Order: sequence, then structure tokens, then C-alpha cells
Amino acid sequence: MTPFDSFKNPDLCRALLGKLEAALDKPMRFMEVCGTHTVAIFHSGLHSLLPSQLVHLTGPGCPVCVTHESEVAAFIELAGKDGVIVATFGDLMKVPGPGGANLKKAQAEGARVEVVYSPFDALALARDNPASKVVFLGVGFETTAPAVAATVKIAREQKLDNFLLLSFHKLVPPALRALLADPFMSIEAFLLPGHVSAIIGLAAYKFIEDYHVPAVIAGFEPVDILTSLLLMVEQRKKGEAKVVNGYPRVVPDAGNPKALATMYEVFKTSDALWRGIGAIPDSGLVLADAYAQCDAFKVLDITLKESKPLPGCRCGDVLKGILKPNECPLYKKVCTPANPVGPCMVSTEGSCAAYYKYQL
Ligand code: SF4
Repeated sequence: MTPFDSFKNPDLCRALLGKLEAALDKPMRFMEVCGTHTVAIFHSGLHSLLPSQLVHLTGPGCPVCVTHESEVAAFIELAGKDGVIVATFGDLMKVPGPGGANLKKAQAEGARVEVVYSPFDALALARDNPASKVVFLGVGFETTAPAVAATVKIAREQKLDNFLLLSFHKLVPPALRALLADPFMSIEAFLLPGHVSAIIGLAAYKFIEDYHVPAVIAGFEPVDILTSLLLMVEQRKKGEAKVVNGYPRVVPDAGNPKALATMYEVFKTSDALWRGIGAIPDSGLVLADAYAQCDAFKVLDITLKESKPLPGCRCGDVLKGILKPNECPLYKKVCTPANPVGPCMVSTEGSCAAYYKYQL
């Protein structure tokens, strides 16, 4: 018995499901904005146990899935440069860019692409390959960005001049704002991401209250998820729409000021491209001017080029909650984990991959 088993307690889950059922007087469409929630809701069986009135939408919470085609094209351009070693997390390897190109294919054609498990592994690569430029691909939300920022600081302190970063880090709150501002959006509540919230805290989401949409930070065990869903549904019943912390054992209301300070020392915000959504103001992180010598964009002259969406792929609509994965015409027919057409089928946290794995 571990301390976490109580957060999986079946009797408690049944009781919470009963309360949820009783609190729902009409249908409610909620969106989770975290790839880990997507998987946790399926893995725990909650997807099939939730009251039918509670409609589960997956949002733009999988960092690999929201990486834009133009950004993938930049990775591939980078991998083709002489004297460059690309260091990346493995889930980016098969993300399709323009024309179906990806890093895996580039590697097969001779590009030096190394899969790493931590940005610190990329530092070791830079140390071991002083004649090459080692470029770490920075993809991820506020959860990942502070560790990458710390890595950049260490590289500078250790004078590892051949360590560079190509940053496509993205920020969650501006994406939520963009979704809420879309007149075609029909999201009635948000289940907010526990990991991201542990860094940014509660105040970063306060603007959601202006849209009269309840939003609850949630953990990842079944009891955590059900408790937060209940907090969300009860708010609507009472006519409230507040941002609430449903995961206080991990998420301090103030977030993690030290991690935020490191992140904003190394990065500054910029507009960013999100797959299927387009440009969102101030939703990205690029290296601050003081760290320009680590910036692969500047050192290796990388620019983002316009690229077209993948033909037939509806990832954009899936990421906006407009379409469920199994409503995409390519789902399971053409697009499978073995032959992914879009990034939502590539990443283990992608909603199309989750639907496929759990047989929907
Ligand atoms: S099923 Fe495949 S093609 Fe369709 S939206 Fe998902 S990833 Fe894109």
C-alpha cells in the first residue's frame, strides 16, 4: 500500500461519480488541457465511467502535438546542417512536418540526431563533441521550460560555447485565452493542468473568470480528477465561475517562484505558432538577449518558413475541441500509431493515440 493508493480508492471513486451524476442537471462540455490528463482519464477507465452528460474534450495540452509544421521544418533544416548534432526528446522524432518529413527520416538519411532523456544529457553531448554544435530542441510548456533554462545557464557558466538551444517552448494561459476568445468555441469548463500549475500557480489563470467559465486545477489520480470535476460541476450549479485549486497537495497557489525566476531570466515571451490554431500573441518563449550566444536561431541563422497543414489531418480541430479524434475521416483508416499522419497520433500524450490505444 503506497500513499497514492488512497487516490485510487474504488469506493471513493464510486462515491464521487455518484455525486457528479447528481450534480449534473444538463450536459456540460469540459476540456482538459494536459496530455497527462488525456492519458490518465483513459488509463483509469474514467472515460467510460463519467456521466454521459459530462462531455470530455481534449485540448492543446500535448506539447508535441501543438508543435507547428514550420517548427518541425526548422528542426529538419537544422539536422541537415554540417557540424550540427540535434539533441531531442524521443517523442519529436516521428512528428510529421511538411510533406511528411520528420527527424527519424532525416536521421536515416545521415543527419546526426540524438535522442536524450534530459536537457542535461545534451550538455554532456556538447562536452563530448567539442568540434560540433549541439542543438537541443526546446519543446514543452512551463513544466519543461525552467529545467531547460537552468541547462542554458549551466552551459554558459561552464563556457560550453557549442551548446545551443532552438526554443519553441509555449505557454498555456495565452492558448486558453485564444480558445475562449474564439466565437465558435463551446467549452463550458476547464480542467487545468497540474504540472504546469505547479510552476505558474493560480493567479496566471484568473482571466478565465472574465469568460464565466469554471476552471479547476486537477491532479492525475482518479480521485484527484473526479474531485476537480465535481468542483467544476458544482460551480456551474451554483452559477459560479471561479478558478480553483483542486490539487493543493502538489500545486501551491503561488506556483514555484524560483522556477519562474529562472525561466524569465533566460527566456522572454514572444508570439508563437500553434499547430491547428495559428499564431497566438505572447504564447512562446525565446532566449533573452543576454543569452543570444546560446540561441540556435541567431548562431545558425535558422528562420521559420511558411508551411501548409498536412493534407486531411484534423489535428487542429482536435486540439481546439471542435472534433473528437474518432470523428477525423483518417482515424484508424489511414492514420494509426504505426503510420501517423498527424502529431496527435504520434505522441503518447496525443488524443488520437489515446483514442486508438483505448479502442474508441
Ligand atoms: S486521426 Fe490522424 S489525421 Fe486525424 S486528426 Fe488525428 S492525427 Fe490527424
